[in-house]
Amino acid sequence: MAEKIQKPKGTQDLLPEATIAWQHVETTARQLFASWGYGEIRTPIFEDTALFLRGVGETTDIVHKEMYRFEKSERDLCLRPEGTAGVVRAFMEAGLSRASKPVKLWYTGPMFRYERPQAGRYRQFHQLGVEVFGLATPETDVEVIALAWQLLESLGLKGLTLHLNDIGTASDRTAFRAKLQEHLRPLLPQLCKTCQHRFDENPFRMLDCKVPACQAAYESVYIDDFLKTPWTGIDSQAAFTRITTLLSALNIPWVQNHKLVRGLDYYTHTVFEITANTDGVDGMGTINTVCGGGRYNGLVETLGGEPTPGVGWALGLERLIALLPKHEDSSPLMVVLPSGNDGSSPQDWASAYQQAKTLRQQHPTATILLDTSNRAFKKQMEAADKRGASSVWFQRDGEWQQKLLGR
Ligand code: ATP
Ligand code: MG
Repeated sequence: MAEKIQKPKGTQDLLPEATIAWQHVETTARQLFASWGYGEIRTPIFEDTALFLRGVGETTDIVHKEMYRFEKSERDLCLRPEGTAGVVRAFMEAGLSRASKPVKLWYTGPMFRYERPQAGRYRQFHQLGVEVFGLATPETDVEVIALAWQLLESLGLKGLTLHLNDIGTASDRTAFRAKLQEHLRPLLPQLCKTCQHRFDENPFRMLDCKVPACQAAYESVYIDDFLKTPWTGIDSQAAFTRITTLLSALNIPWVQNHKLVRGLDYYTHTVFEITANTDGVDGMGTINTVCGGGRYNGLVETLGGEPTPGVGWALGLERLIALLPKHEDSSPLMVVLPSGNDGSSPQDWASAYQQAKTLRQQHPTATILLDTSNRAFKKQMEAADKRGASSVWFQRDGEWQQKLLGR
C-alpha cells in the first residue's frame, strides 16, 4: 500500500461535527456586525513580505520567527500572519484613507504562524476581527471593545475579563525604553534567555514575559509616567479614564494590566485583551486569551497612507470554539424513502425528488434526506431510524405519507 500522506503539523481538518460550531459562531458574528454597521472585507491570504516587515515590525516574534515566507518570480511573499496589515493596505489601495467619513470593517479567515503547536496554538489558525478607521475618540475604543464583548457573551463564553493598558505612542515608548533599560541592566543575569535577547532589540516586549523571575523584575516599572503624547486634543490619562468610566457604565469588568504590551509594534495608546475561563478545557490552561487588540494611530501612515487613526481587535476562532458550550444541531431530520429495489420506476423516483423538494420548502429549518441507496424498503427504514430521523415519508397507493418515529 502506498504511504499515507498526513496533514501538515499544526493544521487541522474540520469535519462536519466540528463545523457546526464554526458555522454557529460565523452566523452569530455576521448578524452582529451587520447590525452594528460594520462591512465585511476580504483580502488575499498572501501579501508582499514588506507589508508585514513594515506594518507589524521586524523585531516582533510573528515577523522575525513565525512567517511562512517564500519567493516567486523574484517577489518576496508570505502567508499572512495576521489580518490588520492587509486590511490597512486594502483600505489605502481603495482610496478610503482620503475619505472623510469613518470606515468600519470586519474580516475572517486563516492566518499562518510557524509556532510550536499545542492546544489552542496552531500553524494555520483562524481569526475574526474588526478595524475602525478615521475616529480617534476614546468612545470608539469603547465601541469596538463592547462589540467584542457582546459577541463573546452572546456565544455563551464564561468568565470573561478585559485587560486594558495604555502604551502611549512610539515616541513615549522611546523615552520609556531608555528608562527601562537603565532599570533592568543590573538584573539581566537573572532574566530568561528570551528577555536577555529582547533587551537590546525590543525591551518593551520583555514586560510580556510569563517567566515568574522576569515578572518579579518588572513589577515596579510602569510606562504611565512616560505617557506624554495626547490623543487628538485629549490628555492621555484623561482619555484612559474616559474609556474605563464608560466600560464600567456598560458593565464590562476591566482590569488595568501595566504589563500588557501586546506582540505587535503598531499599537498606540489603548491595548487590550479578553481572557476567558479555561477550567476543564483540555490542555488550554494558560492559553486563555481569546481576543486582542488596540489603537494604531500611526499604522496607515507607516504604510504610506494619509495619517488616519485606527482601532481594532482580532479573536482566535480555534480558542473561542474550544471554550464554547457544545452546540448541538437541533434541526429535525426527515427522510424520504422511495419504494426501493422492489421496483422504483423513473416516475416513482421523480415523485420522490419532488416530495423532498416540497418538504424542504415547507420546513426550511429541517434537514430532508432522500435515500438514494436503492436498497430494500425495510433496510431504508432501519437506516433512517439509526440516523435519528424524527419521521420518514413514503408512498402508499400513490399518496405520500408520513410516519413519525417518536423523537
Ligand atoms: P499569544 O500571546 O497567545 O501567542 P498573540 O498575541 O500572538 O497571542 P494576536 O496576534 O493578538 O495573538 O492574535 C489575536 C488572537 O488570535 C489571540 O488572542 C489568539 O486567540 C489567536 N491566536 C494567535 N496565535 C494563534 C495560534 N498560533 N493558534 C491559534 N490561535 C492563535
Ligand atoms: Mg503569539
